[in-house]
Amino acid sequence: MDFALPKEREDFRAEVAQFCMDHLGGPLDRPHDWSWEKNLEFSHALNDRGWTGMWWPNEFGGQDLPYWYQLILVEELAFWQAPRDPLYIGWERVAWSILILGTREQKLRYLPAIKNVEQVWCQCFTEPDAGSDLASLRTSAKRDGDVYVVTGSKIYISWAHRATHALAAVRTNAEGSKHEGISLLIIDMNLPGVNVVPLPDITATVGHEPHFNEVFFDEVRVPVANLLGTENNGWKDLQTTLSAERAGVAVSRLGYCRRAIAALEGCWESIPENLRNSPSTVQSLANMRTQLEIIRLLAYRVAWEQENGMLDSVQSSLAKLFGGEFQQNLYEAIYALWPEAMQVIAGGDGAILDGFFPDHLMESIHATIGGGTSEIIRTVIARRGLGLPA
Ligand SMILES: Cc1cc2nc3c(=O)[nH]c(=O)nc-3n(C[C@H](O)[C@H](O)[C@H](O)COP(=O)(O)OP(=O)(O)OC[C@H]3O[C@@H](n4cnc5c(N)ncnc54)[C@H](O)[C@@H]3O)c2cc1C
Repeated sequence: MDFALPKEREDFRAEVAQFCMDHLGGPLDRPHDWSWEKNLEFSHALNDRGWTGMWWPNEFGGQDLPYWYQLILVEELAFWQAPRDPLYIGWERVAWSILILGTREQKLRYLPAIKNVEQVWCQCFTEPDAGSDLASLRTSAKRDGDVYVVTGSKIYISWAHRATHALAAVRTNAEGSKHEGISLLIIDMNLPGVNVVPLPDITATVGHEPHFNEVFFDEVRVPVANLLGTENNGWKDLQTTLSAERAGVAVSRLGYCRRAIAALEGCWESIPENLRNSPSTVQSLANMRTQLEIIRLLAYRVAWEQENGMLDSVQSSLAKLFGGEFQQNLYEAIYALWPEAMQVIAGGDGAILDGFFPDHLMESIHATIGGGTSEIIRTVIARRGLGLPA
């Protein structure tokens, strides 16, 4: 069996790499300016190049290309650590949900604006008492004529402080089981009653803008036209959204892990000789390489499913689970192999590769939490994949 990608797709990968090289410098440097302005600049450059929304239908600003182009782009952008936060949630996450669940009017209204970096999105799902058990969410949306009145709070919302729009999971009916009565709403973040409060997180200490927030909705009046999907069918619709998110996360993990291994190999000569020559180092490197191939195959399989319109929650969960755990194991293995590389963070005296490894070790902590914790993902695999009882 030949798992190689067709030549035109590998040519596209090379084109993306050259683009990143031109805009960001070498992939193993750490010079990237992570300010919001730099993020905006790079996101606009991607759009100017015609690469945002490549696989969307022409009618909504896309180019009708196979989904693979998006996969290659996301993998390479992760490898190059490209600053693209303004696009991240809208383009890599929400657009998928709008394409599948949205009305034509919603697609026309939101997709071109996401592509052109005119709108920045966040996803408001998690609540203080509804994380893993998302179906217990309580943010209510009560119908009042042609608006829903939304009241409640969300937590750990990435990029809410920059967002112009949110895709929110709300309760439109409190009757019945907790899985019933959930709906998805598109909320304009500038509406009266929306309040965003930033939360500190560990990665902000290494030069990234903090991205976590609490979001409070206080009787926010959201037009009924902003319902995405079907009222009270939000739990099922959320599975589509979460499967797409997990598939996207897996591809990003592939890029991040490729980069970590390349970074290690790139500074091979700096590793003390006794460590380099140790049998355990050889074992560890072989292990990393093997696992990298596994995540590549898992992520590509999910992309193939997406391209063929049959995204499956079990396959995307497998890929997300393996990618997240591999990323963490990778940095722990690098720590065990070369502890000095993890000692000093960016900007500190004697920082190796300007703190690349400790920076990414910290970043990897969330890899088994965001998008669903590993425990919950295993439950999805056990129930839906193996048919085990709930
Ligand atoms: C980097 C990052 C970005 C995020 N961005 C967003 C975002 O943009 N929007 C958003 O809505 N949310 C976001 N989240 C929130 C994320 O989805 C939740 O943190 C996650 O779903 C877990 O929920 P929780 O934090 O409430 O933990 P809890 O649900 O309280 O879980 C705590 C621990 O208990 C375990 N546990 C809970 N229930 C079970 C069970 N039934 N079986 C076995 N173990 C269980 C969990 O696995 C976990 O280890 C983000 C989180 C992170 C880390």
